[in-house]
Amino acid sequence: MNITNKLLTKNSYSRSGEKQNKIKKVVIHWVGNANTSATANRNYFENLKNTHKTYASSHYIIGLKGEIIKCIPENEVAFHAGSYSMNRKSIGIENCHPDWNGKFNDNTYKSLVELCADILKRYDLDTSALIRHYDVTGKECPKYYVKNTSAWKEFKSDVAKKLNQEVKEEEKGSDEKVRKYKNGSTKEIVYSDTKCTIKLGSLGAYEQCDCFGVFKDRAMVRYKVDGTSNYKIGFVKWLGGVK
Ligand SMILES: [Zn+2]
Repeated sequence: MNITNKLLTKNSYSRSGEKQNKIKKVVIHWVGNANTSATANRNYFENLKNTHKTYASSHYIIGLKGEIIKCIPENEVAFHAGSYSMNRKSIGIENCHPDWNGKFNDNTYKSLVELCADILKRYDLDTSALIRHYDVTGKECPKYYVKNTSAWKEFKSDVAKKLNQEVKEEEKGSDEKVRKYKNGSTKEIVYSDTKCTIKLGSLGAYEQCDCFGVFKDRAMVRYKVDGTSNYKIGFVKWLGGVK
């Protein structure tokens, strides 16, 4: 993957220099101008410092040959999502398209999948972080993925494949088979999050409970709280107990 740095000059219309909050989303766009180049779109953002036409920019623009131009460093805010709070926590990617149906060509698509996989990996996100501009404001952007939701799903699944992840959908997991978990000889801490930062409780030696599968290298368990009839669900680090 080849990224060319053509950073915008700092100016209040396209590159304010304001620092980002924690990155939680990647917002996908079409440039909305058929058969234009990545460089032309980058120069449009750059010239806003003179034209003052509007406030607009994105971190990346992907061209018709699959070339990727970086306009704004990822740790700075870009103006792409039509929402200040979303701009503060997202990375924006504009995509060129040959015609007005807005479908990206194979070169652009391939680079987009690679770039998204790379970003998700670096920020420890899954494909549920991929959103369309449409999902933020209802704007018809990127047009092809607003009109073709199955193509949008396929795109997310292609990124997931690149990451060796499964596609994260809200409804997923509901038909997941319940398995068993049997702890080893030492106490096992149960956490409420897959990053294992918040302790929920623990499993005793050889304690058995239900397991809903493995997520982000953690086993998701449902266990009974000692001395009560109460159950808790959390994540444990030791995967050897998954049966
Ligand atoms: Zn957009």
